Amino acid sequence: MTALDIRNLNVSFRLPDREAPLDVLRGVSLRVAEGEIVAVVGESGSGKTTLIRAVTGSLADNATFDADVFSLGGLDLRSLSRSAYARVRGGQIGFVPQDPLQGLNPVVPVGRLAEEPLRKRGVGRAQRRRQVLELFERVGLPDPERVHRSFAHELSGGMCQRVLIAAAISTRPRLLIADEPTSALDVTIQKRILDLLVELRDEIPCSIVLVTHDLGLAEERADKLHVISRGRIVESGSPAQILNAPADDYTKLLLTAST
Ligand code: ADP
Repeated sequence: MTALDIRNLNVSFRLPDREAPLDVLRGVSLRVAEGEIVAVVGESGSGKTTLIRAVTGSLADNATFDADVFSLGGLDLRSLSRSAYARVRGGQIGFVPQDPLQGLNPVVPVGRLAEEPLRKRGVGRAQRRRQVLELFERVGLPDPERVHRSFAHELSGGMCQRVLIAAAISTRPRLLIADEPTSALDVTIQKRILDLLVELRDEIPCSIVLVTHDLGLAEERADKLHVISRGRIVESGSPAQILNAPADDYTKLLLTAST
């Protein structure tokens, strides 16, 4: 079964000062099998965020989008209205944002923020608190009760990222999308967070799309790598294939940058 199947995705943006639209994704294909961890690796500006937004249905209003196939768990997303898309996304996609502090409202205790996806699903207060405390324990947060009533600035970056992961998995999503989930953290913590995602993949179970500029971090955990450059996938394969025999010049550059 395929968790996510995208074939020949094009995304362009209309710009007020230009007649021709800006083509940002050009013929991108991405297939994620159930339980697979797929990394999309590319430098800043290559189109990674645009790809994530296309999948989560949150492209900006100036975007135009077309694809030959665009399905999540076998459901054709192209035929859905925005609101139907939002419902599907809420139930099936968990999203871990890049910067923990941007993902967490500073004036609301993190426990309440982590309960939000469950609240939106109509889970009652006592039950969602219980579930979130269990999830905090699961993602390795010490003293979940204390964390629950803390504000983001009272926790370390790694702890905030664990809170966001707990929130993202609380609805048991079929697909977890992690957008540079470790770039704001130091190297040891980065590795721990990625290892946690790998463990959760087996436990939930779910598939994971890991988006990053760091080829070195991705190759240790992903089953498959896609290298994206200027809106095109320039190379795809297993980490071993790509690292041992990169076919594309851009991949070779990324490899040099990550060693
Ligand atoms: P990445 O996440 O790899 O850094 P992005 O997907 O954010 O790349 O951006 C790719 C390109 O698309 C950039 O040139 C960016 O300026 C452009 N872009 C992204 N969103 C918009 C938008 N709403 N309108 C116009 N251009 C955009």
